[in-house]
Amino acid sequence: MTTPQGRPELPKTYDPTTVEGPTYQRWLDHGYFRADPAADRPRFSMALPPPNVTGSLHIGHALDHTYQDYLARMHRMRGFEVLWLPGMDHAGIATQNVVERELAKEGKTRFDLGREAFVERVWAWKAESGGRILGQMQRLGDSVDWSRERFTMDEGLSRAVREVFVSLYEQGLLYRGRRIINWCPRCLTALSDIEVEHEEVPGELALLRYPLADGSGSIRVATSRAETMLGDTAVAVHPDDPRYRDLVGKTARLPLVDRLIPIVADAAVDREFGTGAVKVTPAHDPNDWEIAQRHNLPAVDILTEEAVVNAEGGRFEGLDRYAARREVKAALAELGLLERVTEAPHSVGHCYRCRTEVEPRLSLQWFVATRPLADKAMETVRSGQTRFEPVRYEKTFFGWMEQIRDWCVSRQLWWGHRIPAWYCPDGHVTVARQDPSGCAECGAGELAQDEDVLDTWFSSGLWPFSTLGWPGQTDDLKTFYPTSVLVTGYDIIFFWVARMLMFGCHFQPPAPFEVVAIHGMVRDAQGKKMSKSFGNVIDPIELMDRYGTDALRFALIRGANPGSDVPMAEEWVEGARNFANKLWNLGRFILSIEAATSAPTDRGTPPGFPGPLRPDPTEPSPSLALADRWLLSRLEETREAVTAAYDGFDPAEAARLLHGFAWSELADWAVELAKPRLAAGGEDAERAGATLAYALEVTVALLHPVMPFVTEELARALTGVETITLGPWPAERPGDVDPQAEAGMADLQEAIVALRRFRAEHRVPTASRPRLVVVAADDDQAALFRAEADSLRRLARLETVEVGSAPPVPTAKLLAGRAELYLPLEGLLDLDEERARLDRELAALDVERTRAEAKLANPAFVEKAPANVVAKARERLAEVDQALAKVRAQRVELSGAGR
Ligand SMILES: [Zn+2]
Ligand SMILES: [Zn+2]
Repeated sequence: MTTPQGRPELPKTYDPTTVEGPTYQRWLDHGYFRADPAADRPRFSMALPPPNVTGSLHIGHALDHTYQDYLARMHRMRGFEVLWLPGMDHAGIATQNVVERELAKEGKTRFDLGREAFVERVWAWKAESGGRILGQMQRLGDSVDWSRERFTMDEGLSRAVREVFVSLYEQGLLYRGRRIINWCPRCLTALSDIEVEHEEVPGELALLRYPLADGSGSIRVATSRAETMLGDTAVAVHPDDPRYRDLVGKTARLPLVDRLIPIVADAAVDREFGTGAVKVTPAHDPNDWEIAQRHNLPAVDILTEEAVVNAEGGRFEGLDRYAARREVKAALAELGLLERVTEAPHSVGHCYRCRTEVEPRLSLQWFVATRPLADKAMETVRSGQTRFEPVRYEKTFFGWMEQIRDWCVSRQLWWGHRIPAWYCPDGHVTVARQDPSGCAECGAGELAQDEDVLDTWFSSGLWPFSTLGWPGQTDDLKTFYPTSVLVTGYDIIFFWVARMLMFGCHFQPPAPFEVVAIHGMVRDAQGKKMSKSFGNVIDPIELMDRYGTDALRFALIRGANPGSDVPMAEEWVEGARNFANKLWNLGRFILSIEAATSAPTDRGTPPGFPGPLRPDPTEPSPSLALADRWLLSRLEETREAVTAAYDGFDPAEAARLLHGFAWSELADWAVELAKPRLAAGGEDAERAGATLAYALEVTVALLHPVMPFVTEELARALTGVETITLGPWPAERPGDVDPQAEAGMADLQEAIVALRRFRAEHRVPTASRPRLVVVAADDDQAALFRAEADSLRRLARLETVEVGSAPPVPTAKLLAGRAELYLPLEGLLDLDEERARLDRELAALDVERTRAEAKLANPAFVEKAPANVVAKARERLAEVDQALAKVRAQRVELSGAGR
């Protein structure tokens, strides 16, 4: 067998392992993914959400990247200049933890190494073990521009971070202040509000009594954290609370530490909570801190950074916060000052990295004043300059932005962007773009840089423009900004999307991106979250090994309904692998046709797919066979719907349409219909083959964004092109839409399905060839069946097909849409025996039905049996009813026979 025009022959089966690696390498070698800002083309750009340098590809990435890749590839094929920019995030806490764990194995801490050596060690770790995910992205087929790969701590991005920090400081949008922040006593760092996960825990409410200093009585306060009383500096009541009116201005004696504390009136006190009097612990509660500001109260910090009681706690010093809680209650009880303790579950914040209970802690931190930035970001979304897909996520975004608080951006870590602030011995602060040689205020040369680094999200918030060379006004920035689409899961709208919008709208208006396309989370087949503890985690690498990359990608995209969670199961990947094989076999079939015809048609693929054997567009289409007209019509409708779905951020719908078309209409119907024509040879055979080939080429091109490897290989073999990554996208051919051909084909298909069903149900031997008489509904239909008699004959295994009126001999009568089909029974099946068989079947089903009905009519059963047993019985009854209806219909088909 030779292949026409020297194209490569397709091996018998599709083997992803031999195709994927070399194909990706070829794409890289040709530079197909490299973007050129000077290109004279519409542009399409995306910044890949930078995975953590510590990360490896999980199933969530696989979805996220496939989604972006479909957008990148589709636009590239449609003639856009596409930039999809990759990179990684330095991932402050996560990376520092990894290296600290490594050190722990050597019996060391980061303090043994010191800051400089530790940071060097992290860079070494990054060079050695970081970025494993980049190789995995290549396996996934990501069509990113590797020549523009960035890292949030590379030189350029560090410069952008510094520029933003200093500008915000100069604009009064960034400040250093003593505030209560969320503190992780294990990671020893501040956390922003969104890095804290709130969880209901079984807690308590302790009722304490503080004696009044003048001995005239006492005041009672309720608290869930008794140990914090060691840091109380006041008791507060509501100014309008009649119960306490006389106590305001008096002094209480704080037990255990023997401190005199005032009783103050503050409108922020909730009269309904506890006794209506609240203890005020400014150093350990954000609300108390605010009360303290209003009343000039001191703050007494009683905990170390590890959340252990310090010297301020007197005899409780050295106890951790939980032990201190027990001991303080015991000591108060001994003094008769603990009235009671009741159980009271309440919500407590946990560190999102290590699950340790977060401690509110008073400390000096850097904050971004977010309100003005958030307002700008909201305005950008409101005005439509940036829109969310699906739009319902805008509500989520607004909800968050409306209640945003100042963002604590300093972290007590060593791995990250060090804060560009210096302090002189007099405490003046110098914030500068270049490392300063002297204090900006007093000129003192002795400066110490702030020890802290910036929140990781500070640098990733700049990602869409810092990666394009900002603050430089580069060609990349001018050409590819604002980026076209940002693709991400709904879980990081707050963490990340909001920050990018705030920074992007402020520093590089109008907006960092035009569209935010939100997808869901990958879950298991039952919709359950994937987690190690459930044992339902799916490893994308294993699936790619087993079924090929295209199969994984197709299965993910097929489930990715807009904005909704994506169910995933191995068998669906297996199904997608079968789909890839189906396409492969189609390709082989087409090539075998071309090899068999002596003069292969010249089907080079000039832009826009002019199509096969359509040399003269004025040629009236009815001169084509019905099967060809129908296939071209369905192909054009599919092309249009698939393109619209891709454009509408609904790749799941595109995948569904393409699967349906390729599998059922192209592979099953069109190929079956073409086989007899191909066997007959001649011009009609060529026409049939060329139409099939064209349909497959278009299908392959439309599928390329989702299944890039198998489609590239098929396209190369079918058409001899070097690649289809650069297009063309199948052109519009509205003239191919042919409702008449589709209606005719529907009639024909209905007849074939009805005849096949009849043969199967009545067990007609495969070898027997009945003679069919069709009674058509009208003249048009009669003409159709006459014209397509040969197809019908072959596909339904008939001896002859006659269009006319009902024959007088014993027949079975089948209904197929508007047509009636008559099959003379002689020699086809033993009528009496077949009738008897159906009657026996009917009788058996009747018995079962009576029994099932009686069971369900019995109240003893319905009320006492477990609900699932009753439900099953009902289901069974419904099944029996269905079976009865079906067999009765079969019986009717035979009842008219023999008239
Ligand atoms: Zn932690
Ligand atoms: Zn100074």
